[in-house]
Amino acid sequence: MAFTLPTLPYELDGLAPHLSRETLELHHGKHHQTYVTKLNELLGDDDLTNDDLTRVVLEADDDAVFNNAAQHWNHSFYWRCMTPGGGGAPTGELAERIERDFGSLDVLTKELHEAAATHFGSGWAWLAHDGSKLVVTTTHDADLPQKHSQAPLLTIDVWEHAYYVDYRNQRPDYLDAFLANLVDWDFVASNLTAFS
Ligand code: FE
Repeated sequence: MAFTLPTLPYELDGLAPHLSRETLELHHGKHHQTYVTKLNELLGDDDLTNDDLTRVVLEADDDAVFNNAAQHWNHSFYWRCMTPGGGGAPTGELAERIERDFGSLDVLTKELHEAAATHFGSGWAWLAHDGSKLVVTTTHDADLPQKHSQAPLLTIDVWEHAYYVDYRNQRPDYLDAFLANLVDWDFVASNLTAFS
């Protein structure tokens, strides 16, 4: 074995019209695949699998290994943050925690949108847990919350390759579509349950 590209949890056109088949073919099949291929080349260890990925990310002392491993982790997580017919509102404990820490889902949505829209250059916007509360944060390039003692609950890829085919330079329009129509709140809730 080696690190492998995870299968998308929906069809290539399952997120259309918000993200097109062409975007998923390129983003998953080319960009994400390239991170996986490079990571395998860099490590040259066929015994490592996706189960070892978090450890490899956190222990990497080489920029190239970290960047490719973290991008493999980030993208694997990102695909699961979206679902056909997504959006809407979370329920249960997640809804309660959002209300407690942000005041309302509307406030959280605005904060996420603002953070993602204004993040300069390539990176990721996150809803994360800092150990005591939910927080909105962004990271540059391949960086991720686990390097900052935070647990990721939701991510939005704000590298141009995530939206340029469908939205050109209009990152805010991609964010509107992601938050209104794609986000999988059940997956976000499962991440909260995993450590709380
Ligand atoms: Fe990406």
